[in-house]
Amino acid sequence: MGEMSSPPFVVADIVVRESNCNLSCTYCLTGQSNFKSEHSLLGIFAPPTKFDCGPQTELGRRLRSILRAPAEARTPVVKLSGGEFMLIEGSDELVEEIAPSYETVVLLTNGMPLTQTRCARLRSLGNIVLQVSIDATRHSGNSYRCPDEATHHAAMSRLHGILKSGIPTEIYLVLHDRSMPSLRDTLDDLMPYSGALTVFPFPVRGPDRSSFQPTPEQQRTLLEVVEHASRWEGLLPGTPYLERLRRFYVDAGRRFSCHLPRVAFTAFDDGVVTNCPNIWFNHADNLLQKPVAEVYRTLTDAPFRRLLLAPAPRIDACRGCYTPWDPVSLYFEDQLSLQELGRIPMYRGPRTLDALAAAKAALGPHHRASTATAPGLDS
Ligand code: SF4
Repeated sequence: MGEMSSPPFVVADIVVRESNCNLSCTYCLTGQSNFKSEHSLLGIFAPPTKFDCGPQTELGRRLRSILRAPAEARTPVVKLSGGEFMLIEGSDELVEEIAPSYETVVLLTNGMPLTQTRCARLRSLGNIVLQVSIDATRHSGNSYRCPDEATHHAAMSRLHGILKSGIPTEIYLVLHDRSMPSLRDTLDDLMPYSGALTVFPFPVRGPDRSSFQPTPEQQRTLLEVVEHASRWEGLLPGTPYLERLRRFYVDAGRRFSCHLPRVAFTAFDDGVVTNCPNIWFNHADNLLQKPVAEVYRTLTDAPFRRLLLAPAPRIDACRGCYTPWDPVSLYFEDQLSLQELGRIPMYRGPRTLDALAAAKAALGPHHRASTATAPGLDS
């Protein structure tokens, strides 16, 4: 039995100048990606360039054209990331311009460029969600991201400013051999924001991930955190997310299915689209060259998408992937209710929730692949 006709995508993930960042996290995926020649030159580790996305610039024209397309197709959520998107001249104005066309605009940022003035401006738009990536609140755990203490303190100061600004925020908390030992301290430090903030711990991805793998002893910290998660209630996501994170480490990788490509795709600022926000090496189509309906059809029909949606991971990128996007898969597999998913800022809009429910309904019960679990893995 085939899938019923697919509703439009729910999230358009737009990656802008992915090699341009003010930080040089040692584990950064852009440096590990060979998708574009500039990635193989490790541009992410070069000093940031001054880009401008004003309406009169080439980048600004391209972005406006790309960003019009998902809105035209009634995709409710747009996410902007980089590199560090908020470093780009004119990024505030661009966000202000597009905000009325989407139910929710998500900005993935390391937080460093977000002054109080900029936070106030973003907050006044009413539909902005921030996803702030950090590794730990203590310097020892955050030192792949901020090698010197002064940069770390500046990052933490910005983070607290953001958290006090009242913009709905998720934290993308990267787990590795340096951040894992201070996981409890990080959660304790963020506990004052409990109820207004969700912290998603997730492992480093990419071909070099084993270099950053926490030792078995360090992984016990995570197992203990999962076991005592009620101590950080209101801060950590619910049990299904944490339980899968635990399984990811116990099983040495992902053994369960993923549904994200059903509802989200990525477009780069040259218009190239890929089937998954976490996969940058397939080139499905181009939003600058074709009407959005045609591009959405190509994405939906792509054989590569079927590979990504297999009941158990089929490619290495998927086997090493567990991310804060995973609540979508948990929802598709009936492990999270729509109401629970709606507590995550990115998905909280009614139109977004309706679109996710429609995507799940279109799939039909036979295609909600249950978690592929090898015998004994839960022990
Ligand atoms: S598991 Fe695979 S398809 Fe799913 S988000 Fe990760 S890379 Fe993408």
